[in-house]
Amino acid sequence: MNITQIRNDFPIFTHNPELIFLDNASTTQKPQAVIDTLREYYENYNSNIHRGIYRIAEEATAAYESTRNKTASFIHAEDSRSIVFTRGTTESINLVAYSWGGKNLKAGDEILITEMEHHSNIIPWQLLCERSGAALKYIPITKDGKLDLSEPDKYFTDKTKLVCVIHQSNVFGTVNPVEEIVRLAHNCDAKVLVDGAQIAPHHAVDVTRLDCDFFAFSGHKMLGPTGVGALYAKPELLEEMDPFLGGGEMIRTVSMESSTWNDIPWKFEAGTPNIAQVIGLGAAIDYLSELGMENVSAIEKELHDYARVKLAEISGLKIYGDREDKGAVISFNVGNVHSHDLAHILDTFGIAIRAGHHCAQPIMQKLGVPATNRASFYLYNTKEEIDRLTEGIMKAVEMFEG
Ligand code: PLP
Repeated sequence: MNITQIRNDFPIFTHNPELIFLDNASTTQKPQAVIDTLREYYENYNSNIHRGIYRIAEEATAAYESTRNKTASFIHAEDSRSIVFTRGTTESINLVAYSWGGKNLKAGDEILITEMEHHSNIIPWQLLCERSGAALKYIPITKDGKLDLSEPDKYFTDKTKLVCVIHQSNVFGTVNPVEEIVRLAHNCDAKVLVDGAQIAPHHAVDVTRLDCDFFAFSGHKMLGPTGVGALYAKPELLEEMDPFLGGGEMIRTVSMESSTWNDIPWKFEAGTPNIAQVIGLGAAIDYLSELGMENVSAIEKELHDYARVKLAEISGLKIYGDREDKGAVISFNVGNVHSHDLAHILDTFGIAIRAGHHCAQPIMQKLGVPATNRASFYLYNTKEEIDRLTEGIMKAVEMFEG
């Protein structure tokens, strides 16, 4: 892969020649093709979808619905009716909590999640437990950033109704054994929701092979615009679920007394959706598909391997959950330098990393630290940037330790 050519597709690097962007687990930069797609929609065929019977409305509807087909192919869903557009992973998970959880959970039932979850995959379940009387249980993590699945019978029981698991950790980069978790869950008749926010941008996903019931992800973490993401759900589950938001477009008939619902997936897309963003997500999927997800993973693996070697040269630097076989996300602390101080100093060198709890406070509690630094890589990063990161950290430590 020619990284220089890839970088040229991202105008932010032309506009900010000094920028070393290593906060890709948070959000990613946008290729010109995505920016152009947004602009073209607004300039050439801006209109609402699914209702206008004039040319540009039909064009917009076709572009919007073609992203649904692209999204289904991208994650290997067999039926495009299983793709619901949302604002992102957070909204997708909340949709399941309200629409599936509200109907199917009661006191005595258990929702099983893990100690590795992002807050987006904790809070909706805590709220659902409050509403339904169900209990929340956690699969523990080990100190080295893996799920401890050594005693599955302790967690997967006949009370378990729903299992929610992060596929790739946004803190460690650990890729969890989701297929095994789906098998354990289905053995006790529980449904499985996979938080795919960190896997979909970086590795090929096959929801049909995984056999998960729900899969949530965000467009902005995979080169797409903000404000758009998707929920994959098995069509038979969407059919039986109650609507999430009520309003225009999600109905078939409305009378003063009662209403009936649109077909899936539109039953879950109330109101005017984020049309431009959905169409932009289609352009991001085209861009990634053209590169090939196996090539994206290979670029990241090379960067991750290199970063592990380089960062190991820094004395006092500790990587959490370090291992070769994981996603290109490195959480670390160095000496006594507070993560916010380090991130601030690195910013003065043009290097953007993340510092904090990464919306995963239970992990921080488990590690016994208030915060970590996190460098996360994507297809446009280079080994030279990792050299600059290493030098930057060394300089920062020198400044602190005199
Ligand atoms: N889940 C994981 C693992 C994440 O990393 C994130 C965002 O950082 C989310 C969920 C929430 O995604 P969004 O803010 O796009 O809804």
